[in-house]
Amino acid sequence: MPKLMNSKQVLVTGGAGFLGSHLCDALIADGVDVICLDNFFTGNRHNVTHLLDSPSFELMRHDVCFPLYVEVDEIYNLACPASPIHYQHDPVQTTKTSVHGAINMLGLAKRVRARIFQASTSEVYGDPDVHPQREDYWGKVNPIGPRACYDEGKRCAETLFFDYYRQHRLLIKVARIFNTYGPRMHPNDGRVVSNFIRQALHGEPVTIYGSGEQSRSFCYVSDLIDGFMRLMKTRDDFIGPVNMGNPNEFTMLELAEKVIALTGSKSRLIREPAPIDDPRQRQPDITLARKELGWEPKVQLEEGLTRTIEYFDQILTRGNNPD
Ligand code: NAD
Ligand code: UDP
Ligand code: UDP
Repeated sequence: MPKLMNSKQVLVTGGAGFLGSHLCDALIADGVDVICLDNFFTGNRHNVTHLLDSPSFELMRHDVCFPLYVEVDEIYNLACPASPIHYQHDPVQTTKTSVHGAINMLGLAKRVRARIFQASTSEVYGDPDVHPQREDYWGKVNPIGPRACYDEGKRCAETLFFDYYRQHRLLIKVARIFNTYGPRMHPNDGRVVSNFIRQALHGEPVTIYGSGEQSRSFCYVSDLIDGFMRLMKTRDDFIGPVNMGNPNEFTMLELAEKVIALTGSKSRLIREPAPIDDPRQRQPDITLARKELGWEPKVQLEEGLTRTIEYFDQILTRGNNPD
């Protein structure tokens, strides 16, 4: 049977990453054809090997910084390293991926008249003075600090999306994603959920950066992917930006306690210096997503952590990839 037979063709950039691979799963289940594009910088082909036999799935190695000519109906643009240690590893490349990647994917969308979704981020709000964050808050971002390659890259990508919308009438959908976690997170990505679970499972000290009183709001991956697909299906004149995240907010100390309790670990807490420009607080106001997408997260932290711990336990202690 020839590959890619369904009526709708969907391109997912960054499709072999954490979020991208879950999105590919959900799109295939929804009955569309998926082209999964990735340069495997932080993503991993193991995340999508279970899809390789599907006649609706195609995996393509490509860097979004270079032009791409394919015929598709929808584009989800997720390509970009997302964790601080990954995006700070080669900051120039991070900005290029966000900016050149957006230009190329927008150029592609313009040529084939595809709908295009952008995975933007709560980092556009920086270290926010307004709490919780609403979409009309312009943010407080340091343009020259070590996080700027990511924050400003994503802000510039939003600018490009809105200019292509105004100038070329493109059908854009911009989501501002807040911290999301779940199976297939990279165990060494340095993000707080993966660090704490890995450390707790190995009985190593759990690293609290700074006071531990800084807060984040954690969304489970299946909720987020449901939100992405709802956003793509909204009426043409709903373009975002729209916050997507779980509004339940926790301090890093509270998160550490939960992970230690759920893993039954004997790990203790140790303090390490706070990273430069580490946002003190973050919580999405999701009023707009509730109203326009009829969406809100369903999976709460303990349940999501339990599933994520199960996954990490499989890959770290038993060497299995559960997929
Ligand atoms: P991830 O690192 O697992 O996925 C990113 C994917 O993009 C990887 O597979 C990577 O190999 C690929 N990639 C990177 N540069 C590329 C390039 N130049 N060309 C092609 N592919 C490239 O991270 P994730 O958590 O799945 O994040 C996906 C998207 O969502 C990113 O754009 C990220 O900024 C955004 N986001 C994620 C979160 C979160 O909490 N996970 C929060 C806000 C925004
Ligand atoms: N582009 C692409 N695939 C396409 C069409 C365009 O990768 O199918 C790239 C192209 O290389 C260009 C960018 O998208 O650099 C922006 O395209 P656009 O048409 O907006 O601008 P222009 O080609 O005029 O620079
Ligand atoms: N953090 C921590 N210990 C770790 C990793 C992170 O205390 O081992 C803190 C970090 O300083 C930040 C929060 O957890 O305040 C979330 O960090 P992460 O890198 O996951 O995401 P982001 O800062 O991009 O929201």
